[in-house]
Amino acid sequence: MKLIQLDVSEHSRESVGMTYVYPVVSRRAGGVSIGINLNPNNACNWRCIYCQVPNLVRGRAPAIDLVLLERELRLFLAEVLHGDFMRTRVPVAARRIEDIAFSGNGEPTGAREFPQALEVVDRVLQETGLQGRLKLRLITNGSQLDRRTVRDSIAHLGRRNGEVWFKVDPGTRDVRRRINGIDLDPKSISRRLRLCAERCPTWVQTCCFALDGVPPGEADVVALLDILAETEGRITGVHLYGLARASQQKEAPRLARLPAEWLEALAQRIRETGLTVSVSP
Ligand code: SF4
Repeated sequence: MKLIQLDVSEHSRESVGMTYVYPVVSRRAGGVSIGINLNPNNACNWRCIYCQVPNLVRGRAPAIDLVLLERELRLFLAEVLHGDFMRTRVPVAARRIEDIAFSGNGEPTGAREFPQALEVVDRVLQETGLQGRLKLRLITNGSQLDRRTVRDSIAHLGRRNGEVWFKVDPGTRDVRRRINGIDLDPKSISRRLRLCAERCPTWVQTCCFALDGVPPGEADVVALLDILAETEGRITGVHLYGLARASQQKEAPRLARLPAEWLEALAQRIRETGLTVSVSP
């Protein structure tokens, strides 16, 4: 393992030299998050202009070596539980494992073996006595919810007290085409969000930033509020977050962080609809 002290700005998927397993200190999760990266080829079916994945390409995950995934996870958990990983690599304030999260260099549910990968993680957690002591999370753009296998896996996650973080950014259809690189009818987004939230507790995660100095406009905010309203209270809440780490895409120079007050004002509008909101500017 390469020895790199981890902090909230160190999100390299290669920090422990494994293919699928990587630790990060997550400011949103509030501790060490053990990431499962099913997209070591840096391929995603979306292309968000704020994406932090270097050399991002359009595409899907390659075939997943489930044996290697299991071996890496067992090895890494042994190191965290019985080795000196926390003491040598993690700032004192963050020395606890917050979660295991399917969150990598692309959309995890795009991997054909996503259901089997979830079963591997579930089995390892049970066998190491960690089942129920760690949150199991899926960070997703929600694009694969029309596939039955993905819905079934999300239901599996729900039965394990897991959680989904489902990406919905502020934006009209046109804006979403520009910021997420997809052309998606808002009704499809709210339908998939409902399908997800009916199977597993689901937080919407919403990235807010200024593009060419301009924050999301009223039409963009209303488009987000409309999608949230369509879920009729089924979602657990909304995480609003700003640009904590630099985009690795060519649009990076055009992006800027928004003032905390801007995010707080949007949070307040969402709270008025009865939803819980957390803000990480
Ligand atoms: S969905 Fe996630 S991984 Fe894919 S381009 Fe957007 S931010 Fe990057």
